[in-house]
Amino acid sequence: MLSTMQDVQLTVTRILKHGMTIHGRSQVTTWTGEAEPHRRSFAEIGARAGRLAHALRDELGVQQDDRVATLMWNNAEHVEAYFAIPSMGAVLHTLNLRLPPEQLVFIVNHAADKVVIANGTLLPLLVPLLPHLPTIEHVVVAGPGDRSGLEGLNVRVHDYEELLAGRSEAYPWPELDERQAAAMCYTSGTTGDPKGVVYSHRSIYLHSMQVNMAESMGLTDADTTLVVVPQFHVNAWGLPHATFMTGINMLMPDRFLQPGPIADMIVAEQPTHAAAVPTIWQGLLAELSANPRDISCMKQVTIGGSACPPSLMEAYDRLGVRLCHAWGMTETSPLGTMAHPPAGLGADEEWPYRITQGRFPAGVEARLIGPGGDVLPWDGESAGELEVRGTWIAGSYYGGASGEPHRPEDKFSADGWLKTGDVGVISTDGYLTLTDRAKDVIKSGGEWISSVELENALMAHPEVAEAAVVAVPDDKWGERPLATVVLAEGATVDYNSLRSFLGESIAKWQLPERWALVPAVPKTSVGKFDKKVIRKQYADGELEVTLVEG
Ligand code: AMP
Repeated sequence: MLSTMQDVQLTVTRILKHGMTIHGRSQVTTWTGEAEPHRRSFAEIGARAGRLAHALRDELGVQQDDRVATLMWNNAEHVEAYFAIPSMGAVLHTLNLRLPPEQLVFIVNHAADKVVIANGTLLPLLVPLLPHLPTIEHVVVAGPGDRSGLEGLNVRVHDYEELLAGRSEAYPWPELDERQAAAMCYTSGTTGDPKGVVYSHRSIYLHSMQVNMAESMGLTDADTTLVVVPQFHVNAWGLPHATFMTGINMLMPDRFLQPGPIADMIVAEQPTHAAAVPTIWQGLLAELSANPRDISCMKQVTIGGSACPPSLMEAYDRLGVRLCHAWGMTETSPLGTMAHPPAGLGADEEWPYRITQGRFPAGVEARLIGPGGDVLPWDGESAGELEVRGTWIAGSYYGGASGEPHRPEDKFSADGWLKTGDVGVISTDGYLTLTDRAKDVIKSGGEWISSVELENALMAHPEVAEAAVVAVPDDKWGERPLATVVLAEGATVDYNSLRSFLGESIAKWQLPERWALVPAVPKTSVGKFDKKVIRKQYADGELEVTLVEG
């Protein structure tokens, strides 16, 4: 028997129309580095999205399914592109401006982007690539920046504001199928070529509703969220879409991502929420200890993208800011879990839950797969690879304009679940604790050592600013941990005392013998520890390694 309910398509267009009318007064504030930030209401953003869609269709000839790329910071124009492009039936392709040039070239060519909208300040990055991007016909430049490099290239160049000027804001948004492509994002590609994840209108709509649930970020139009996570990193974790559903104000840092300006904008604009990877919060902490400022306006901060050291949570607790741990991936839109403790617990009882990756929302199903392929129990002890499925989880990767979507066996199970490559345990009450990436876990004499556990323990030492631990080959044990450590400013701690400090919380056989001091931990394009670079530095003899045995 069929239901009697309406079958309204869940589209980005519906989110846009809702946000620009019902929440028309909410604002996107973009940091400019000048005395006054730039402010634009949701109503204005919606009107300008209509004009942008007119320009893209009428002037640039963008058709349904054409890919329109963005090479932009987080700002109001980028939000306009977020809504205009999918709502007109084209596909938004956000480009990660921190990728190496050869990967950007690969990605743009693989997606066959027709147009790129770029911030003027990013043209020095884009211009040298353009001769290698044959599918790009148009470059639209937003904001200040030297445009002379674009002269003489085989592309038409447009100014964003001139393109919008004088056009109608009333765009005849087409009726779209909710399953069609709305946006795409390539994985950061730590191994092999980057893979394209294509989000549907439906997946974005449902994911946005989840972001807005109290068990996830749960914000309202009384809130302002500081969106530090880049719009090219999994759609800024869904925030631009979620905010248009509920009227949450957005504070956008544009290119001012250093700890000093971040602290300044928090003090000036008083956001109640923020979202970013742990390295941003580590950097801000160092800034605040040098130049103390009150950031307690932020009731809650969503932190994810890599494991949040518990010591970082404690440090922010002392500043009156609660970090809430979340886990996700490009393939999961990204919201997978969030670590709100169960209701009714005291602060001490909450702690063990806060330091997990959190629990799954109803839209995400999870299972753990053991080394033999068996499904493991949720007993808090059985460790296996996490697999997930759900309406905002990828089921395949983009196969290119002429290719079929592909489903590599190492990424998808035969019955359609996403293999996350993350290893962990799930407690009886459904909280996920990740111990490592499958490829980062240290396999020592048939036992597994968690690199994340060692890192978290090291970063709890007051004289350690950052620490990354990787597996290195060992004649006797197969692999052993190598600890690379960044000391806090002015610290002089020695390896023996660091090793004994670790020994207070970690079994002796797991303690690293190999140690190296480094000026900084290498980071990936989205600010995570880049362990493959550390492994290579070790293999190439670039690290000064000291042996310390207990
Ligand atoms: P990406 O697709 O680049 O965002 O990377 C996704 C990967 O980041 C996941 O598969 C995890 O390995 C890692 N990750 C994300 N969030 C967390 C977290 N809260 N704790 C540990 N690892 C995380």
